[in-house]
Amino acid sequence: MEFQVLIHPDELSYEWIDRAIANDIDAIGIHPVGGYRARESLADLVERFKDNDFTDLIDYASDNGIKIEYEMHAASYLMPRELFSTHPEYFRVDETGHRNNDANFCVSNQEALQYVSNAAAILASGLYKSSDRYYFWLDDVKNKKCMCEKCRNLSMSDQQMIFINAALKEIQKSNRKAKMAYLAYFDCITPPQKIKPVKGVFAEYAPMGKYVSETQTQENSKINEESDINNLFSVFSKSNSKVLEYWLDNSMFSNWTKPEKKFVPDNKMIKEDIEKYHSLGFEYISSFACYLGPQYTKLHGQPDLSAFFRCVEKYKG
Ligand SMILES: [Zn+2]
Repeated sequence: MEFQVLIHPDELSYEWIDRAIANDIDAIGIHPVGGYRARESLADLVERFKDNDFTDLIDYASDNGIKIEYEMHAASYLMPRELFSTHPEYFRVDETGHRNNDANFCVSNQEALQYVSNAAAILASGLYKSSDRYYFWLDDVKNKKCMCEKCRNLSMSDQQMIFINAALKEIQKSNRKAKMAYLAYFDCITPPQKIKPVKGVFAEYAPMGKYVSETQTQENSKINEESDINNLFSVFSKSNSKVLEYWLDNSMFSNWTKPEKKFVPDNKMIKEDIEKYHSLGFEYISSFACYLGPQYTKLHGQPDLSAFFRCVEKYKG
């Protein structure tokens, strides 16, 4: 199995990289903040590649065998919202039957699809020392699919699949080894039914629901989780399959507000979850680990990441 931690760009530091090296972590994922700031924070990441202090850090990681990946909500960056004034047909038809540039885009409009695919290929080629795995997620929202005549009968998952297939094919024109994640998250936890993944697409399972759901008992969510994962593997290969967890996500535990709170891990859950994911066939285990960078250390000292690191040791032998 492979292991990754996912942190914000401004948290990338020699301290984090040394932690990764010392504990045999395979990859550091760099995650510009999502939500309504996703476009701005991705544009800011692209700017950072001009900053030698930032690229020196990436060189240091990569020279020490740590892979670098970039994971972000990219729809509003790839399809700029201001195109709405000249090309409203690129955008989604909302629940009221009107074109709306609030989120995502129309995946049945071939020009729109080509536009985002070209933008994805340009973005991919500019991601400094990126691994061949690309993560260009749709907007960080629920229930914002296109309801136009052609899209209406496609689930959000099918709509995501159309975008990922098209973008990956474009990226593969310059990098044949490129792979791309289908993000199984929120309404996309249910896999696509009508659209099949092209070669190189892998599933990335992000069970945020289990952290925010208050209506389900834990027992129920366990049962749902197993059937969600089995459903996912009925469409996607286990090869390259990835879990993106929140065990170390101190940004979530700090309610996405600084200053960061003291991180208290659920070590039992980390151990049991990794065991479960391993037995279900996932090959790549990752957790958000935001709000644990240099600023955190100044406030609270070293965070306790021991349960995660113990699992890395165990499963990498
Ligand atoms: Zn549409």
